Amino acid sequence: MNFKLTEEQKMAQDTARKFVNKEIVPVAAEYDEREELPVEILNRLIETGLSNLGIPEEYGGPGVDAVTSCIIVEEIARGCAAIATSSTCNSLAAYPIILRGSEDQKQHYLRRLAEEGQYASFCLTEPGAGSDVGNISTTARRDGDYYIINGTKRFITNASIANFLTVFATVDKSRGHKSLSAFIVERDTPGVTISKKEKKMGLRASPTCEVIFEDVKVPATNLIGKVGDGFYLAMETMDKARPTTGAMAVGLAQGAFEAAIKYTQERVQFGKPIFAQQAVQIILADMAMEIEAARLLVYKACFHMDHDLPFTKFSAMCKCYGADVAMKVTTDAVQLFGGYGYTREYPVEKYMRDAKIMQIYEGTNQIQRIVIAREAAK
Ligand SMILES: Cc1cc2nc3c(=O)[nH]c(=O)nc-3n(C[C@H](O)[C@H](O)[C@H](O)COP(=O)(O)OP(=O)(O)OC[C@H]3O[C@@H](n4cnc5c(N)ncnc54)[C@H](O)[C@@H]3O)c2cc1C
Repeated sequence: MNFKLTEEQKMAQDTARKFVNKEIVPVAAEYDEREELPVEILNRLIETGLSNLGIPEEYGGPGVDAVTSCIIVEEIARGCAAIATSSTCNSLAAYPIILRGSEDQKQHYLRRLAEEGQYASFCLTEPGAGSDVGNISTTARRDGDYYIINGTKRFITNASIANFLTVFATVDKSRGHKSLSAFIVERDTPGVTISKKEKKMGLRASPTCEVIFEDVKVPATNLIGKVGDGFYLAMETMDKARPTTGAMAVGLAQGAFEAAIKYTQERVQFGKPIFAQQAVQIILADMAMEIEAARLLVYKACFHMDHDLPFTKFSAMCKCYGADVAMKVTTDAVQLFGGYGYTREYPVEKYMRDAKIMQIYEGTNQIQRIVIAREAAK
């Protein structure tokens, strides 16, 4: 076992850290306040090789291993979890194509993301089907060489900037989850509407939208894999994507921790910095320990992915544990800042608001625990 990062991984971490400190940290609060996505920062992340991390080199992507990918995502989330969420969205949308797409689909769509600076969204969740993925109601009806898609998707990250969408739909609702199928849908196809943009507690710079499909005609060649593959494809996609969420949770917890370490050494009460109080040090020590444990779980899941070992359990564990740690650490960070932590003058209230989503998206932490228990029982 070796805990040392390789030279390439250290370089990727260094590049990401410098990028984040220069380009993201100074503007994160401003974009959060304006609830606006800094698309130019996303574009620069792509140009610098810090985005599209899941896309293999043969299709124009950076082709980095899972560990490197999570090291980079951790750094971005340390600066801003909203920007990290939006910049990792392309990989999430690309995974179904990477996992089951035809060679033509891979060459065409993955290259558009990696080489043409385009964006894609992953459309699974619906108003009536979040955790219960098998119950989705968006329909895909075969019509000659086309499928006609009808339905509504909810909470879709980056839909407002996406050039194409990977969409999960049922071809026959009576067959339950076995009828789910995945399709690539161009954003500008007639009948696709990006409607409501959510007003959110956190992650405000990352757009989350409703997408409506009304008689959307999609070529049958845009089916990803086989009819009926969709449910397992969605599960496999989540398995691959969850360590990224774990890494994001670690990154934002790390950001809050660093802010707390600095503040407690500066803030004087009872004639000395509050850091001098052992009760304060104990909180900081717990934060440091839990962040490190969460980071190691992310690395473990990634190690399994990189070595073709089973990773479903570790993937769920690192997402779930990382998200819980992020919530606890950011709440403690606000506590250590006292009243100032509750104001928008300091960054910790944003870290705390952003942390909450980590326990909800990519499958809630209750769902992760179900996955972990099932895997453990095998
Ligand atoms: C900011 C944001 C971005 C998102 N981005 C995307 C995206 O890009 N693409 C996409 O497809 N989706 C996206 N989502 C959707 C997200 O993945 C879902 O919100 C999430 O999976 C939960 O679904 P739900 O909201 O319908 O909650 P529900 O499934 O209704 O769950 C409500 C509560 O019930 C609990 N619960 C449900 N079933 C069980 C069970 N069997 N056992 C125990 N507890 C249970 C849940 O844990 C939760 O606490 C995003 C959501 C947000 C808020």
